[in-house]
Amino acid sequence: MEVKFIQAKELKQKPQDETKLGFGQIFSDYMFIMRYTEGEGWHDAEIKAYEPFSISPAATVLHYAQEVFEGLKAYHCADGSTNLFRSTANFNRMNNSAKRLAMPEFDEAFANKALHELIAIEKDWIPKSEGTSLYIRPNYIGMNPYLGVREASEYIFYIICGPVGAYYSNGLAPTKILIEKEYTRSSQGGMGFAKTGGNYAASLIAGKEAHDKGCDQVLWLDSAQRKYVEEVGSMNIMFVIDDIIVTPPLDGTILPGITRDSVLTIAKSKGYKVQERMVSMDELIETAKSGAMSEAFGTGTAAVVSPIGEFVYGDERITVAGGKMGGKSLEFYNTLTEIQYGKTNDPFGWIEKV
Ligand SMILES: *Cc1c(COP(=O)(O)O)cnc(C)c1O
Repeated sequence: MEVKFIQAKELKQKPQDETKLGFGQIFSDYMFIMRYTEGEGWHDAEIKAYEPFSISPAATVLHYAQEVFEGLKAYHCADGSTNLFRSTANFNRMNNSAKRLAMPEFDEAFANKALHELIAIEKDWIPKSEGTSLYIRPNYIGMNPYLGVREASEYIFYIICGPVGAYYSNGLAPTKILIEKEYTRSSQGGMGFAKTGGNYAASLIAGKEAHDKGCDQVLWLDSAQRKYVEEVGSMNIMFVIDDIIVTPPLDGTILPGITRDSVLTIAKSKGYKVQERMVSMDELIETAKSGAMSEAFGTGTAAVVSPIGEFVYGDERITVAGGKMGGKSLEFYNTLTEIQYGKTNDPFGWIEKV
């Protein structure tokens, strides 16, 4: 299949002040889109103007949330080139998510090729200041105008992108995390491993209540016992306990983060001990209080590494790492961002040049 390019009638004004980009508010001139029809397969792949498209008020995605998405970034390098970071891993995960939602598979290599074409066209939209990037959002949705509860037979897959600011305006400020005792995000047999809007819908109320209590994010516990740590907000979580990097295993209820995998790989390459195992609330509280837990941090594409300074558990407040960013958190942040921005060589083969 060829990607057809349709010239936009006019191009937008690009943002002038890169310190005010924020996140997810500005979109570039073009988007990639392709359609799926049962019996016909994927067709009509196009790069065309970013603009609203029409959708039936009865469409599957609007009623039954048949949707999966991804999030990744393109980075401007000092030599003027553009880096994409592990995009094939994103499309592979997207197909795994799609399978869970009974959506047809797409050709990952083709999607990645289309992404390269889109980013090449939108190169001038990639901001250049420290910490900024072009955020890329692939989205895949069920389109049938039919209210029966079943998987759709028509879909669209599209990719939009837009410049985003440095996640940290005041350096890597440690976050305050509310340990969520009531709501859970996913359960065994559910869709916790899939990047799908439904998981986010289920999480919004907890996020809102955490913000109302002055916290930045929630820490999700397992749904069966509220005993084991799962994720933090929409990031994976890691601890440094007795100098070992510890993170919950990919047991089907948590998202297999690409940043998680990258940090674990970097940690091993630096000779650190790494354990993928369950961490109970008892262990978290005990080791945080005793100081055996020297660091805790979230990992995800948006923030890369987000240090945790404090856990709020009911009336208790437990400080981690003296409320500061720990040395290993900073080391992982620096190593990963240096690879992403092409400031150092990439020994892992993660970078694709556009
Ligand atoms: C996207 C996401 C992550 C982080 O994944 P990355 O690939 O590292 O960006 C973690 N948890 C949830 C729930 C997510 O949706």
